[in-house]
Amino acid sequence: MHVLETIAEMQAWSDAARRAGHRIGFVPTMGFLHDGHAQLMREAAKACDRVVVSIFVNPTQFGPTEDFDKYPRNPEGDRALCTREGVAAVFFPSVAEMYPAGAQTWVDVSELSQDHCGADRPGHFRGVATVVTKLFHAVRPDMAFFGEKDFQQLAVIRQLERDLNFGIRIVGVPTVREADGLALSSRNKYLSPGERDRALALSRGLREAEAAVARGLRTAEELIGIVLHRLSEVDAQVDYVHLVDPRSLARIGVLEETAVMLVAARIGTTRLIDNLTLVAPLASGPADRNEGVTRAT
Ligand code: AMP
Repeated sequence: MHVLETIAEMQAWSDAARRAGHRIGFVPTMGFLHDGHAQLMREAAKACDRVVVSIFVNPTQFGPTEDFDKYPRNPEGDRALCTREGVAAVFFPSVAEMYPAGAQTWVDVSELSQDHCGADRPGHFRGVATVVTKLFHAVRPDMAFFGEKDFQQLAVIRQLERDLNFGIRIVGVPTVREADGLALSSRNKYLSPGERDRALALSRGLREAEAAVARGLRTAEELIGIVLHRLSEVDAQVDYVHLVDPRSLARIGVLEETAVMLVAARIGTTRLIDNLTLVAPLASGPADRNEGVTRAT
């Protein structure tokens, strides 16, 4: 496995791989890798000949009071996981390599970045869109793999790819969860055992909303209320619970066919996000209500 630290080295490696006829699959990460990241690598390996993983804790997507300095890091463990997953190259740049002094260009996906996490974390998606643009130019992949766990981020990146004509196929990968439903996240490391139990309220609330849809509930008010109730039981500090259109991410008042419930809440000082696609049963019968829709299980 090659470990590359400069953009020039990364581009040279990718150019050589492409000249050799290889299709390159790219998995951008901030490290402290877990099985959710590994799943993205496995999907990339299925579709591509060479998998490239980047590990870069991107300072521009953290707000001034957020956890950039204490964000968990584990470079040795990350390398071991990438080796186990058969990754061909790890791109591991420094902050100075990615943001040399004097840089002044930003990428802003204006509308999709506004609401939800964008409203709670001003500048976050500008940082994400900028770093992903730079990473795309460093790696020049054929395909790039992102988790549905970060649903708004995935929508922002699909839009970015279209708007800037990257010609990269963006693939969304369903959320990987612990057996009890907790979505895997590097930030779960911050949770004490008690907080980890309380954190289950996010996935449980979403599952209860899904069950309510099966029983016939359709209004955003009722469905959001179910999630809020679960969160309040564990004293979570709610950033938002929104029912949205899966493509535009516009908030909707009534579930008609498919919608996504987005949740962001703090357990103690740890901010967690989760989401679930909700599908209204077909009028003809409830038996096949989930067919054809990617489920986060
Ligand atoms: P991060 O390192 O948290 O920036 O995440 C890197 C990529 O892994 C992003 O595309 C995330 O959406 C994805 N990811 C993180 N957690 C999960 C998970 N539990 N399941 C699937 N993908 C995930």
